[in-house]
Amino acid sequence: MTATLPGLPDRVEIYEVGPRDGLQNESAVVPVEDKAELVQRLIAAGLGTVELTSFVPARWVPQLADAEQLLALLGPLPGRHPVLVPNDRGLDRALAAGVREIAVFASATETFARRNLNRTVAASLEMFVPVVGRARAEGLAVRGYVSMCFGDPWEGAVPPAQVADVAVRLVEMGCTEISLGDTTGVGTPGQVAELLMLLARRRVPVDMLAVHFHDTYGQALANTLLALQRGVTTVDASAGGLGGCPYAVSATGNLATEDLVWLLHGLGIDTGVDLPALVATSVWMAEQLGRPSPSRTLAALAPRPEKDC
Ligand code: MG
Repeated sequence: MTATLPGLPDRVEIYEVGPRDGLQNESAVVPVEDKAELVQRLIAAGLGTVELTSFVPARWVPQLADAEQLLALLGPLPGRHPVLVPNDRGLDRALAAGVREIAVFASATETFARRNLNRTVAASLEMFVPVVGRARAEGLAVRGYVSMCFGDPWEGAVPPAQVADVAVRLVEMGCTEISLGDTTGVGTPGQVAELLMLLARRRVPVDMLAVHFHDTYGQALANTLLALQRGVTTVDASAGGLGGCPYAVSATGNLATEDLVWLLHGLGIDTGVDLPALVATSVWMAEQLGRPSPSRTLAALAPRPEKDC
């Protein structure tokens, strides 16, 4: 059953972050062959954009220390397949692996910038300038993540102007897409509307924006619907709700792709995703990780053993 609402797009691009943002934040280290199978199954389920991994030093993120092996195992793939790159050395590795799109990860708050990047916000943005410039000169698309857009566990509420300053700087240095991250999942739709309005006033085109919500307080789908009504057409999500944020104790994690697909298809919005194939993939991944998925839609649709009544 579908029923549409006025003012919504006909199609939404789901930017799947499970293999990178998801697995980076799982305590288990998944074998590279299973990561490759996850990516291949996500693509087969119709996800056209899958962020694959991160070219960070292995000591920072041991879960993703196999970036080169993963890309070699996968070979050429249809669709968009960005990788996270923290610095010049990461870009060298990504280019050598044949990557055509990268992402850099900025913070809207000083405390998270210091904890995650060991730099001030300004210094981390300066570090990205040559990386983004060289990537663009090589013809790569570059996504700029802005984390902690609505709240920060150390600093509390984050002023929208602080977020907009970082987003504008990422656009100025050449980023082609900006992903607004509610890293701790505290945001509510009024805050999303306020930030999107401010970004429009600061002349950041809405078609450059993506939203990245976490479902910590159950607000991710409400926030997504608001963003769609305001013209956003790219939404980040993680298959089976993989991952979370290791620095935010209460963060239960990324919006599950299955929950997003249920909302979008219910609204008659095309995603290209085959939901049963996606559910089967996330059920398989949860088995590999040895823990259940937090996705409500997955719980509703996953096959379960017959119960004695
Ligand atoms: Mg996330």
